[in-house]
Order: sequence, then C-alpha cells, then structure tokens
Amino acid sequence: MTKSAVEFIDIEMHFADTVAVSGINLSIKRGSFVVLLGPSGSGKTTLLNLIGGFIEPTRGQVLIDGKNVNGIPPAKRPTTTVFQDYALFPHMSVAGNVAFGLRVRHVPNNEQKKRVNNALELVGLANLGDRRIHEISGGQRQRVALARALVVEPTVLLLDEPLGALDMKLRRQMQEELKAIQKRVGTTFVHVTHDQEEAMAIADTIVIMNNGFIEDQGEPKRIYLKPVSRFTAGFMGESNFLDGSVVYSSAGLTVVETQIGRFEVEGTAETGAPVTLSIRPEHLKISGKGQVLGSCKVTETGFFGTHYQFKAIIDGTKTSLQVRLGQKQMLKLGSEINLRVEPEDLVLISSL
Ligand code: ATP
Repeated sequence: MTKSAVEFIDIEMHFADTVAVSGINLSIKRGSFVVLLGPSGSGKTTLLNLIGGFIEPTRGQVLIDGKNVNGIPPAKRPTTTVFQDYALFPHMSVAGNVAFGLRVRHVPNNEQKKRVNNALELVGLANLGDRRIHEISGGQRQRVALARALVVEPTVLLLDEPLGALDMKLRRQMQEELKAIQKRVGTTFVHVTHDQEEAMAIADTIVIMNNGFIEDQGEPKRIYLKPVSRFTAGFMGESNFLDGSVVYSSAGLTVVETQIGRFEVEGTAETGAPVTLSIRPEHLKISGKGQVLGSCKVTETGFFGTHYQFKAIIDGTKTSLQVRLGQKQMLKLGSEINLRVEPEDLVLISSL
C-alpha cells in the first residue's frame, strides 16, 4: 500500500483565462490531518475540488491511494466532503441525513442502523437522531455533516471551511473535537481554511498557498518558527522584517549587514545576496540575553488581554518594530528602551 492517500503530480488548473493553480506537486500522507491555508483566491478550494472530482485538471494527475482518478466522477471516488453550508437535507431527520450515503450504496438496513448510531455517537449526537435539521443548532448541524461524511468510511475526508459559519468560541471547541475525531478514526482529513490559528490548532501538516502555488509545507511549529519566505512569515502570524545583504556565509552560519547593524544567523546564502531577517514580535525582549538591536522609543501601545503589544522606532533610523511583551510589562508611550533578540530567533529568508 502506498504511504500517500493523495498525490498531485504536476497539476495545473485553468478556468478560461485564469490560472487557479499551477506547478502543484504534493503528497498527502495517509492518516494525516492536512490543512490548506492561504488568502482568498490562492487556490485552496481548487485543490480540494480536484481531489473530490468536482473539477478535472487542465494538466497533471491526481492519485488517490496510488491510483490515477482523473476522469472518475465524485460519487465513484473514495472521498466525501463537508461543505461550509453543510448542504444537509432539510426534509430528513438527523439520522436520515447520516444514513443517506449508506442508502445509495445499498448497505443492508440493520448494518445502516448500526453505522449511523456509531457515527452519531462519534460526533456527540447519539440522542438526536430523530430530530429534524431545523430543530438543531448550527454547531450540531456541523456535526451531522461530519457524521454523514464519515459514515461511508472514505479514504479521504475533504472539509471546505467547515467551521466558517460558527462563532469564535464554538469554532475553537469544534477545532479540538475535529482533531480528536480525526485521531480516533485515522481517516486522512484535508481541510481548507484562511484562519491561521485554526490551521495551527488542528493540522499535522500545513500547506501554505499563495497565488496558485505552494509556498511552504510542513508541521505547524516549523512553519511558524522557521518560515521559508517573507510571505509565509507575514501570513502565519506577525513578523518584523530587516532587509540586508550577505557579508559572509560558511558552515551553516551567515553574517548579514542591515541598516541597524550586523547579525550572525543560522543558514547559508551567497555572499552579496539580498536577504531578509524575520523576527517575531514575541521574540524581541527589553532585558536579559541576546544581541542589542539598538535603543528605541516606544511610539504606540495596546493591551490585548494576554499580552501588551507596542511599536518602537530604533533611534536615528526609520526602522519600526512590533514588540509583544507579557501582561505585566506595560511600557509608557515615549519610553526609551533597548531591544534585544537571541540569535536563534532571527530567521534568514532569501529576498529573491
Ligand atoms: P477562498 O478562500 O476565497 O475560497 P481559494 O483559495 O479557495 O479562495 P480558489 O477558489 O481555489 O481560491 O480560486 C483560485 C482562483 O481561481 C481564483 O482566482 C478564482 O477566482 C479562480 N476560480 C476558482 N473557481 C473558478 C471558476 N469556477 N471559474 C473561474 N475562475 C475560478
């Protein structure tokens, strides 16, 4: 058995004159929870629809379980989809909705009943099978849609912004539940969102999409702490960028000259190449260890409950940095401080 549940090979998708995605080569590991993350129009739904068979690629192949599925209609693929609007049947009961896929596959009645009960129990709706769709809440509808998609035991479950219609608190709760359910059933989940916090909360692997291309892919922690590009660093959370050029690079260490001084960072690059250093706001400190970036003046402050965020301008420059400090480290506007950063928190990014 191949290790990949899904593979995209040299995929390109055009809609008339629009190139929705191109140069897509991606392997989705069996049993993993993969999140396609990116801004609006970056090609996330196109990739999902290519797996589900709702559209056919202009070029390239889609493999599911190692088999080329080009030309195979959605109903014949080992995939099911949870849509943002859930697409439930309003005239059927909760159990009737969940049983739908089993009925069309002619699964015997007693077997249907058993599987529907198991699926409803899995999503925490064991007692609501007889209710009509209009008699349950938005969060419960979301669970019915999930149960309906899982009950047919697909190889891949596709989720298109399934939590988009829920309020923030319910959304966070459903994220945890989705992750727990995925681990329990072991099905490969491919989930589309533009919410980076959601992606970090649920994914084993995040695939960052930008303008029809895959910008980066990997585990959430690596993508956040060591983004490969300025786009990824800016899209996954906030980042400060210092532009510079490479003075020297050898044995995995690079010296970069910037407007505010020289920094030694991990990574390699060609001497003279333009590069960018990325620093997360929470990695800037006002005391302790680390290289001093310079003395700065605090120009804006804001309290965010869990932390303080402020802007500081480095004296004698136009370099303004976003800084995030703990709840009890409030600074007054106009304060003069020294900002520091530890070498491992500076990330080297090519500017090309
Ligand atoms: P969103 O987060 O807004 O749903 P997305 O990342 O899912 O965006 P896609 O829906 O995959 O993006 O769209 C990628 C590109 O392809 C966009 O430029 C979009 O306008 C275009 N596109 C998608 N579907 C069609 C279509 N059926 N006809 C024409 N253009 C389309």
